[in-house]
Amino acid sequence: MYYLSTRGNQRLTAAEAITQGLARDGGLMTPEVFMKMSPSALDTMKDMSYPQRAVYVMSTFLDEFSTAELNDFAKKAYGPDKFDTPLVAPVCRVDDNTYCLELWHGPTCAFKDMALQMLPHLLTASLKKIGERKKVCILVATSGDTGKGALEGFKDVPQTKILVFYPKDGVSAVQELQMVTQEGENVGVCAVKGNFDDAQTGVKMLFSDEALREQLAKRRYFLSSANSINWGRVLPQIVYYVSAYCDLLKGEAIRPGDPVNVCVPTGNFGNILAAYYAKAMGVPIHKFICASNANNVLTEFIQTGVYDKNRPFYNTISPSMDILVSSNLERLLLALTMNPAEVAGYMADLAATGRYQVSEKVLKKLQSQFAAGFCDDEQTKAQIFKTWKEHGYLIDPHTAVAFHVLDEYRAKTGDMTPAIAVSTASPFKFCSAVLDALGIRDKKPGLDILDQLSEVTGCPIPAPLAGLRGKTPRFKTWVEKEDMVEQVLEMLN
Ligand SMILES: *Cc1c(COP(=O)(O)O)cnc(C)c1O
Repeated sequence: MYYLSTRGNQRLTAAEAITQGLARDGGLMTPEVFMKMSPSALDTMKDMSYPQRAVYVMSTFLDEFSTAELNDFAKKAYGPDKFDTPLVAPVCRVDDNTYCLELWHGPTCAFKDMALQMLPHLLTASLKKIGERKKVCILVATSGDTGKGALEGFKDVPQTKILVFYPKDGVSAVQELQMVTQEGENVGVCAVKGNFDDAQTGVKMLFSDEALREQLAKRRYFLSSANSINWGRVLPQIVYYVSAYCDLLKGEAIRPGDPVNVCVPTGNFGNILAAYYAKAMGVPIHKFICASNANNVLTEFIQTGVYDKNRPFYNTISPSMDILVSSNLERLLLALTMNPAEVAGYMADLAATGRYQVSEKVLKKLQSQFAAGFCDDEQTKAQIFKTWKEHGYLIDPHTAVAFHVLDEYRAKTGDMTPAIAVSTASPFKFCSAVLDALGIRDKKPGLDILDQLSEVTGCPIPAPLAGLRGKTPRFKTWVEKEDMVEQVLEMLN
């Protein structure tokens, strides 16, 4: 199978696409075709473990990889030393037709682990397959979850270095501690003065710095990225939608062929796009419900066909969705238009004016499958409270956005198809907002807040977060964004 740039000017194998990340024309490498699974496949997969399901789904996209190889990757990525449940991505029943897909049982307690535990295996195998001998240097700018997820995924992986830059004033105390205590010989972590935009702009400057590329080449390194533009990050995410449907079949919540809806809290559009691809492979998903916070650029797009990033930016209590440019939307545009030139046109408009409008035809197609909604911080907190009170189920702010938007969608449309709401982080990663939502005013300082949330709710603290207490920070450096180049070279010494 080949991969085509969404803008039409590059065609690569899987190994090449995963190594390269972004296409040379600025587009995103995307499978040319989506092979439909046989009608009996879901029934067959029902009795498989999560790693086996992962191999079954991923192998259709990775001809150059053997089943033995993929088995090995899946066992390592989703094994008991990484995930705190053998189900890996368990589905929790909330009520008769609402199910919650929990994607935070991995080493960093957020859904990024689902892909970032697999990506390093795919990437290092891809390097071998294309005969690349240089080491890869992964640069990440993070607003919190991606950085830690990538550090855990790439820690001590041969032929790789990983350097993470986070905004000094833009991550939670737990998130910062998670990163600066990171173990591993090939990792580096550095704070950048300013907010997430400063860190991201700084990293983008590094990627376009030709002098840096030369310096790195001399040291036998090349640059790559671990964010969700890489096909190697989207692919492992398709697996959990297939897996969730299998689990519902297995638990007899649905019968073979029954439709389900999915409701996904999304920012960069990567997670919900993976659900769309799962449908292309044969999972009977009826509606994709796109849930946003106050940064509601996707809601507006799905409701009107206009994507406009010229709008205020809000810092919310669901920070991993505080995004104005959803890069993976470009892949959906290709699927809806089947026309790379049209996609390239929209992207050129976006670059020139910060805005584009899709054709009537594309909008119709979009709205036949997608619904969208958003909520603000107060509504998010109210939802955390409500879900806890009514169901005794504790959710984090990102997940709460999905629950809120799902409720609203049902009230508005009357569509009561069984729905899978996607849960993207452990509530313990966002203790302060969750305690606020539960009406607790006096919050304990530092890591004691973990115990406090546990005492109030009776829910256990996930081991990776409880384990932060004994750890000493390894990384204490911070730089101005202009000085990041020197920092990269220093960390590679
Ligand atoms: C990254 C992240 C999201 C958004 O994921 P997308 O890939 O942008 O759809 C949502 N919730 C959490 C907790 C995240 O870490």
